[in-house]
Amino acid sequence: MRCPFCQNQDTRVIDSRAAEEGAAIRRRRSCPACERRFTTQETVLLMVAKRSGVTEPFSRSKIIAGVRRACQGRPVTEDALAVLGQRVEEAVRGRGAAEVPAHEIGLAILGPLRELDEVAYLRFASVYRSFESVEDFEHEIAGLRADRIASREPGE
Ligand SMILES: [Zn+2]
Repeated sequence: MRCPFCQNQDTRVIDSRAAEEGAAIRRRRSCPACERRFTTQETVLLMVAKRSGVTEPFSRSKIIAGVRRACQGRPVTEDALAVLGQRVEEAVRGRGAAEVPAHEIGLAILGPLRELDEVAYLRFASVYRSFESVEDFEHEIAGLRADRIASREPGE
């Protein structure tokens, strides 16, 4: 690990300890060139497997960028997007797998996005579920309406 202060290529680990309830390791490092100290953290990278077979590290900002596109022109704030990104990440990480298929990430986005903005949800779902006809939209909208009525009426 390179020193972030003087860019020296060689640094020494002077202490290692478990962090975040064992989900991470933090290392205190010291640079022999400039004598400064800094801390690094090691965690398991959550990988996303794309349909092409390529894997890449999970990226919350990528998810937010995709949802932001679906939200264009809609009254959705950056804060709301950030919260959605966090919910999706928690849901995906909560599965406890080191690698998740990309389509599961799409699935994890649909629920929170539907609560956030129905129009953006329909846009996103139409791409994600590759809607092919007006009937696909009608079917999805009928589902949204049914849920809305169900949530308005007191249950049983
Ligand atoms: Zn240094």
